[in-house]
Amino acid sequence: MIDTHAHLDFNEFDDDREEIIKRFFDSGGEKFVNVGCTMQSSKRSFELAKNHENIFASAGIHPHDADTVNETSLKKIEELAQHYKVIAIGEIGLDFFKSTSSREVQITALKAQLELAENHKMPVIIHCRDAYNELLDILREYKTSNWKGVIHCYTASWSIASEFINLGFTLGFTGIVTYYKDKNEFDGEPEIYKTIKKMPLERILVETDCPYLSPVPERGKRNEPLFVKYVIEKIAEIRNLSFDEIEKLTSENAEKLFNI
Ligand SMILES: [Zn+2]
Repeated sequence: MIDTHAHLDFNEFDDDREEIIKRFFDSGGEKFVNVGCTMQSSKRSFELAKNHENIFASAGIHPHDADTVNETSLKKIEELAQHYKVIAIGEIGLDFFKSTSSREVQITALKAQLELAENHKMPVIIHCRDAYNELLDILREYKTSNWKGVIHCYTASWSIASEFINLGFTLGFTGIVTYYKDKNEFDGEPEIYKTIKKMPLERILVETDCPYLSPVPERGKRNEPLFVKYVIEKIAEIRNLSFDEIEKLTSENAEKLFNI
């Protein structure tokens, strides 16, 4: 079991961080990736990774804080990225739903961090909300070879998913798959189920995005890495495969993508 997207550095875990980490590793968790989203959280993610053998970190600045991307912060991300426990650049991306930075600033910040990842041959962890077409355009523009990376918390259609897959990307699914309901559903099957059914198995990752997005049956509580098991369970159900098969596949996919 590998949770490829956790934020254990957040204050929500200040009282029991080590307990939660222990619970994950004691209950079948193999590894997890703690994802940086600001300069401070990238540093804290790195500290967590340094202190635990099976925790890995990413470094990067989220679109919400895109206005903090500058020469100095890029240099710091680059420094963090030199360490072997820092395995990806992220989370970076575009968020046109809840823009706290302007679109132009977000696009500039994304491009600068994509370049950094390219230069260091590192995978990227991408956050995208209400900006899939803009993101696809940028990724195509930068495509020198196959992209290595994940579109985190994917919830959209198969047609958009297939565009990312063609560019080389893997898609990350969160607890949303356990409670997702479409507003415009005619045949009763949520769009996300259709996407999951068509996904090449070697391009699926599972993640929690904890402390957010707690899956059923833990809705309303704080999320934690161990709850990635409910995401695995749901995907197994949708694909008509066993828990063990999806668990093994998604762990292999994570190990391969992040080289962990
Ligand atoms: Zn996140």
